[in-house]
Amino acid sequence: KRIGTHIMKDSNFLKEHNGRLMWHPMTSPKDSADAPPTIITGADGVSITDIDGHRVVDGVGGLWNVNLGYSCQPVKDAIAQQLDILPYYSTFRGTTNDVSIELSYELSKFFAPDGLSRAFFTSGGSDSVETSLRLARQYHKLRGEAGRTKFLSLKKGYHGTHIGGASVNGNANFRTAYEPLLPGCFHIPAPYTYRNPFNETDPEALAQLCLQALEDEIAFQGAGTIAAMIMEPILGAGGVIPPHPSFAPAVQDICNRHGILLITDEVITAYGRTGAWSGARLWGIQPDMMATAKAITNGYFPFGAVMMGQRMLDVFEDNPNAKIGHGYTYSGHPVGAAAALACLAETQRLNVPQNAAARGTQLYEGCRALMEKYDIIGDVRGGYGLMTAMEMVSDRATKKPIDAATAQTVQEVAYQNGAMVRVSGPNLILSPPLILSETDATTILTALDAGFAAA
Ligand code: PLP
Repeated sequence: KRIGTHIMKDSNFLKEHNGRLMWHPMTSPKDSADAPPTIITGADGVSITDIDGHRVVDGVGGLWNVNLGYSCQPVKDAIAQQLDILPYYSTFRGTTNDVSIELSYELSKFFAPDGLSRAFFTSGGSDSVETSLRLARQYHKLRGEAGRTKFLSLKKGYHGTHIGGASVNGNANFRTAYEPLLPGCFHIPAPYTYRNPFNETDPEALAQLCLQALEDEIAFQGAGTIAAMIMEPILGAGGVIPPHPSFAPAVQDICNRHGILLITDEVITAYGRTGAWSGARLWGIQPDMMATAKAITNGYFPFGAVMMGQRMLDVFEDNPNAKIGHGYTYSGHPVGAAAALACLAETQRLNVPQNAAARGTQLYEGCRALMEKYDIIGDVRGGYGLMTAMEMVSDRATKKPIDAATAQTVQEVAYQNGAMVRVSGPNLILSPPLILSETDATTILTALDAGFAAA
């Protein structure tokens, strides 16, 4: 295989070096050397192919980002054209590029129902989170409330890996080794019915308890010290935790009452994954900022956008002191912007949220049927588009989490039987492309059935 002028080495060479020279995210170097990762060498439609020629349906959708599948010709064309015309020009003070202007216009239309009309471009999800946290602090300084510096977020939330994002992350795995993190970040219990400190199993009652915890934390910290609350509309990496529908609107009310900005981290949920066009629209809220990335370019290019609402505009625009001392070399990258324009158009033309909702119901119900069959499945969560998790336990009564080896067996046997699925701790997570067909969804469920049967 030739990549440009580079001639690739053969598969034996690649296997020999796999996991040895490259440090992999979220993995210890020793683990990837001892048990090297699957080498993916090709992809088409909603399927991926490994180095041995084994082709499976991608139940992971890349990493929650390949919403439109791997053969999206309009995006490939847009990227190729843009590479010829203008491969890069900066959007820092004094210059810009035409495609990023065009994209900001299209995004302002796309997110108008969410009350968001301005874009700040980034290179990915962690950048978008960082941007929103920094702009939140600047917002309060510009308004003369410099004391508002703290951040609130949900336990089990995932907000990327920069120091700010890690500080608001609600999972110790992404924090402990990197402490001390940003001071002034506080975590509220997540509306996670399967396990919570209140032992509450009713989603609505649990939402109320979490909201009370939010109120209590605000009172304890002092509202005048808090800049923003950041939250995923449906917690994703933490194990697909959809809150009761009353939760997000009530969080927005509480934030409004206390002058706290609400940032929705929609790196996963924007652009259709939940069956709605955005997580904010799913719950009927209007955040002050929305962090997006991933599906904005369908995995074809690293790119992100933070969208801004009216409150941000009121303070930043027409204000000569509101210089934004923040930005990335690749903010508004023309090739990324071209890819995003094509993805946005395809997302709308194909009405992917509608298919995500239909196929999401099929997968969710299929997973619930598997739960009837296999005791190892302690909880199934989802029901909103194509994001579903099965939490695996070694004992349903005590909810003891599954051991890593058994979880790995489920994943490996499912892979042998036709579907790539993702294991994250005790959770088996499904986030396939949103263009999934009924047959593809059935393939994933059949493969999982084989995986659980082998565990
Ligand atoms: N926020 C959320 C909700 C995410 O799910 C992710 C990634 O999975 C991020 C932020 C970080 O995005 P990235 O990995 O593109 O930096």
